[in-house]
Amino acid sequence: MTQQPPRAYRHTKIIATLGPATQSPEQLEKLIQSGVDVVRLNMAHGTGQWARDIVQRIREVSAKASRHVAVMMDIKGPEIRTGPVDTPIALHVGDEVFLQTGNTPPPEVQRGDGAFHCVTVNYPDLGHDIELEAIVLVDSGLLRLRAKSKDETGVLCEVLTAGTLGSRRHINLPGVEVGLPALTDKDVQDVKDGIAAGIDFVALSFVRQGKDVRVLRELLVELGSSARIIAKIEEHAGVANMVEIIDESDAIMVARGDLGIEIDYHRLPLIQSQLVDLCQQEGKPVIIATHLLESMIVSPMPTRAEISDVSNAVREQADAVMLSGETTTGAYPIESVQVMANIIGSIEPSVSHALNSRIKLHEPKAKMLRSAAVLAQDLDRSGIVVFTRSGFLAYVLAALRPRGVPIFAFTDQDDVFRQCLLPWGVEPFLMDFSSNPEETIAGALAILKDRGWVESEDWLVVITNALANDKIIDSMQLRQVGPVSN
Ligand code: PEP
Repeated sequence: MTQQPPRAYRHTKIIATLGPATQSPEQLEKLIQSGVDVVRLNMAHGTGQWARDIVQRIREVSAKASRHVAVMMDIKGPEIRTGPVDTPIALHVGDEVFLQTGNTPPPEVQRGDGAFHCVTVNYPDLGHDIELEAIVLVDSGLLRLRAKSKDETGVLCEVLTAGTLGSRRHINLPGVEVGLPALTDKDVQDVKDGIAAGIDFVALSFVRQGKDVRVLRELLVELGSSARIIAKIEEHAGVANMVEIIDESDAIMVARGDLGIEIDYHRLPLIQSQLVDLCQQEGKPVIIATHLLESMIVSPMPTRAEISDVSNAVREQADAVMLSGETTTGAYPIESVQVMANIIGSIEPSVSHALNSRIKLHEPKAKMLRSAAVLAQDLDRSGIVVFTRSGFLAYVLAALRPRGVPIFAFTDQDDVFRQCLLPWGVEPFLMDFSSNPEETIAGALAILKDRGWVESEDWLVVITNALANDKIIDSMQLRQVGPVSN
């Protein structure tokens, strides 16, 4: 039996972060079946062994479900954290807490006279890099501290907002030029484990400059990996250097969780739009992440504001929207994906059909893709077929945003097949190529018919190689689908 034609075609991709709520084989299968395109492993909470086990499980479940997903390993980068505490510390307004960066606690703490609380921090140069009076935000800004004094052993802070300090809490230092290296030892080990497991993307946290991306690129080259790099923009230096970071990266994540703490929160929508715009100019995928359906961690229904937030990302034509807590620990992980898909399905048809006019196309073949997109959009019930070994043509077509037209990307490369699951509107297929272009096209059309992606009389704009006077030339062909047997 052939599948139903996926007429309700979705351009915007969905990314879900795996965690206790979704990592069992049963939940994973439901997650994949509900329409997730990319799964994210958040290595701030995972070990290399966990990544190896989970990637193997994802591949097994995917194969069983006959639906493939790409895997993104999100490494924690130069993240600042407090160390372990024996019991959570209740901090009141006006209390003092010492952020210890050296090996030994200050004498008062050693003597145990209880003048102030003390907690270790994994940033040896904190005392050097922070200005007095600077604000230190702990645990996503729940705890607010102010730097009062400092020396080479740490920083004494006054508590401005009361709260409880547990173990290994994330610290944000808005406005501070953090001097930590782009990759920690754990990141390097995680990347090695991830590559051994077969990840498709590495997301690098707290990217501050283009050089940070190059450090990861060199590691991937050294390890012989073809994984693509997603740079996470989540602090002020990353915002200031967004142009060079986009240039060095394969894709961008607008990591709004940290970004909303590190910069003035009211500028967040402006920076999101700026990043989406620049990525569309450069033809790079862009992901909108965090808090899209946050209330669904505990509630089966999103808030009205969240519905608008997802709609806004779809209208801005981001490539993908990402779920975090909703699918890691939330009570409604599968429902969150369904809600996301429903909002995308309702909003996409209302978005302008204008092609991306800002994209810079340099190569003649890339320029030909614009003509293909114009033609396909001019026809009723059409799709674009492209054959690609590197993924380049599929990524460019996606960046052109041919709304209403599926991009069927055929590749004979396993890694490229999965990497094509991220960009907007691309539906990838894995297939062997023949040395005869006509046979390759026939094979692709057979797959599209067989899997219900096309119906008889649909139009396909095919980007392919053709033989002309013994020479292989680039060609764009218009084909109409013949009768489809049901
Ligand atoms: C974010 O801050 O929005 C984000 C995606 O990063 P993480 O979940 O690693 O903090």
